[in-house]
Amino acid sequence: MYTYRGIHSSWISWFLSSKGNEYFCEVEEDYILDRFNLTGLNTEVSNYSQALDLITDQLADDDIQDELRGALDVQARLLYGLIHARWIVTARGLAKMLEKYKRSDFGRCPRVLCQSQPLLPVGLTDVPYEKSVKLYCGRCEDLYSPKSSRHGSIDGAYFGTTFPHLLFLVYPNLIPPKSGPVDMTQVSSGTTTGSDGKRRKRDEAQEPTPEVIGEINTASVALKAERYKPKIFGFQVHEIAKLHRWQEAVRDRQVARLEELDI
Ligand SMILES: [Zn+2]
Repeated sequence: MYTYRGIHSSWISWFLSSKGNEYFCEVEEDYILDRFNLTGLNTEVSNYSQALDLITDQLADDDIQDELRGALDVQARLLYGLIHARWIVTARGLAKMLEKYKRSDFGRCPRVLCQSQPLLPVGLTDVPYEKSVKLYCGRCEDLYSPKSSRHGSIDGAYFGTTFPHLLFLVYPNLIPPKSGPVDMTQVSSGTTTGSDGKRRKRDEAQEPTPEVIGEINTASVALKAERYKPKIFGFQVHEIAKLHRWQEAVRDRQVARLEELDI
């Protein structure tokens, strides 16, 4: 074991506790040791065998020369990142990231009307060295850059393009409501499925719970969406107000049509 790791019992625990690596979760050793899960990574990481030995603590100190140490560290981080992207879309990996989401480890949406909705990391591409990691808000369905430059420089491929959307697919009760404060107590670890498959009447859907979000009709969702209305001294800005009146008229017509279909 390397002396610079000090108190840490393994390379992974040292890596996870290093400043700037807070977005990563622990990939279980069983997953890494199953070579099937690593298929193809040997072509993406140079010094693959040594990098793998390093992250699984199989590399003895005297196996490598000092000048190789730095390069090997870079490759070990790349390998861990690429394994991490695969791991977090498995059932156990999703569960680990869910714990981090509940603690808001990835920060909160800066959009005021999202009411501090916790964010999830996402990549814009699955190919390493192309784009840095972004943060996805499930409420406004938009992307943000991490606040800290340490997080802003993490490779997005270590999280991948699928992760947050799969999380909401597997845990539909996590899909945030479009209005109201964040209630993380609603976030249970079990999955929920639609109950009877019946369409709900509009008046029953007034207070949507995350569990029934898939069954809420489009009209009620459209009416609940919060909109920011710029105002000067309490009056709406003229051009924007005109645009909003037009958009709301279009919305109301659409809602009326949806309601006709719903009854
Ligand atoms: Zn948001």
